[in-house]
Amino acid sequence: MSRFLIDRLQSLEPYVPGEQPQDMRYVKLNTNESPFPPSPRVVDALTRQIISRLNLYPDPLAQTLRETIAAEYGLAPQNVFTGNGSDEVLAFAFMAYGSERGFAFPEIGYGFYPVYARLYGLKPAAVPLNKDFSIPAEKFCNLGKPIAIANPNAPTSLAMKRNDIERILRTNAGSVVLIDEAYIDYGGESCLPLLSRYPNLLIVRTYSKSRSLAGGRLGYALASAEIIDDLNRVKNSFNPYSINSLTMLAGIEAMRDRAYFTECVNSTIVQREKTKADLRGLGFSVLDSASNFLFAAPPYMSGEAYYKGLKQKGVLVRWFGDPKLKDYVRITVGNETQMRVLLDKTKELLEEVTA
Ligand code: PMP
Repeated sequence: MSRFLIDRLQSLEPYVPGEQPQDMRYVKLNTNESPFPPSPRVVDALTRQIISRLNLYPDPLAQTLRETIAAEYGLAPQNVFTGNGSDEVLAFAFMAYGSERGFAFPEIGYGFYPVYARLYGLKPAAVPLNKDFSIPAEKFCNLGKPIAIANPNAPTSLAMKRNDIERILRTNAGSVVLIDEAYIDYGGESCLPLLSRYPNLLIVRTYSKSRSLAGGRLGYALASAEIIDDLNRVKNSFNPYSINSLTMLAGIEAMRDRAYFTECVNSTIVQREKTKADLRGLGFSVLDSASNFLFAAPPYMSGEAYYKGLKQKGVLVRWFGDPKLKDYVRITVGNETQMRVLLDKTKELLEEVTA
C-alpha cells in the first residue's frame, strides 16, 4: 500500500475469490463454474467470424447482444444492460444507488456486496439469517434503503419465494431492490414476472454458470428502461467498452443455443440431486439446493478438515472460515465423473477418520 492511498480505501478488505490453482489439475468444484464447455455455436462463431475484426472497438451499446437477451425474456432491448461479468453490473448498481442510508443485504450472502458497499463508502447493513439459513423476508420489509439479495442465495443454495420478494419490493417502493439471479436457471422462482409491476426491481444475471462462460466475463441486468439508463450513465462514465467483441459474440450465440443450455442445466440438476442424496446417505447435513452447488457439512470431521483432506486428494471445494459457516463446505455440482471422484474421495476420508 502506498502512502498516497486515500483513507477510506486503506481499510478496505478486498473480495477473496475462490482458488484458481495453476500448479496441478484438480477436480475443480470450488467456484460454481459449469463443468461443460461453451455451446458449440460459441466456439464456431469465435473461431470463424471475429478474430479479423479485433482491430476495431466493440459496439459500446452491445446492441445485438442486448436484443438477443431481450428476445429470450420477452423484453425490449432498453430493459437490458450488459456488463463485464455480473460483478461489474453489481458494482455499477452499488455505485448508482448506494446512499447515505447505506445498502442492506443478508449477513450471509454473496461476499462481494459488503466489499462494494465499503468501496463506495456506504454503510453496509447486514441482516442476519434465520437459524436454518433461510432469508427472513420480513426483516427486509419497510427498510427504506437499497437492498441486494442473491436468489438463490450463495453460499447457502436456498431459494426465496417470489411472494416474499414481492413483499420486499412493495414495502420498499422508494428504493431499488436488486435481486441477483446468478443461479436462477437451476431452480427457484425468477422475479422476471414482477418486472412490469415494480419499477424498483433490478434483476442481475450472469453467463458464468448456466451458460458456461465464466472466462468470457459477461453479466446482465433486466429492469425498467429508467434503471437501465442509470446503469448506462455509470458505465459510460467508467468504461464504455467494458465488454469485448469476442465475449459479445459468445454471449449472443450462447443465448441462442437454447437446446444446449437446457441440456447442461438439466444434467447439473440430476447430478445435484444424486450427489445430495449420496452425501446425506454418508451422514452429511446438506441443504436443499436450487443452484449448481451444494452446501454441506460432513460428519466426524470439521468443514476445514474435509476441505483440506479433499484438496490433498485432488478435489477442490470451497470452505469459508467465517464462524457461522465453518462447519460447511460449498461443493460445485460438476459432471458425472467429477461427482463420482468427489464421492469416492469423500468415502476414503470418512474411512480414514473413523478407522
Ligand atoms: N452473484 C453471485 C451470487 C455469485 O455467486 C457470483 C459468482 N461468484 C456472481 C454474482 C458473479 O458472477 P460473475 O461476475 O462471474 O458474473
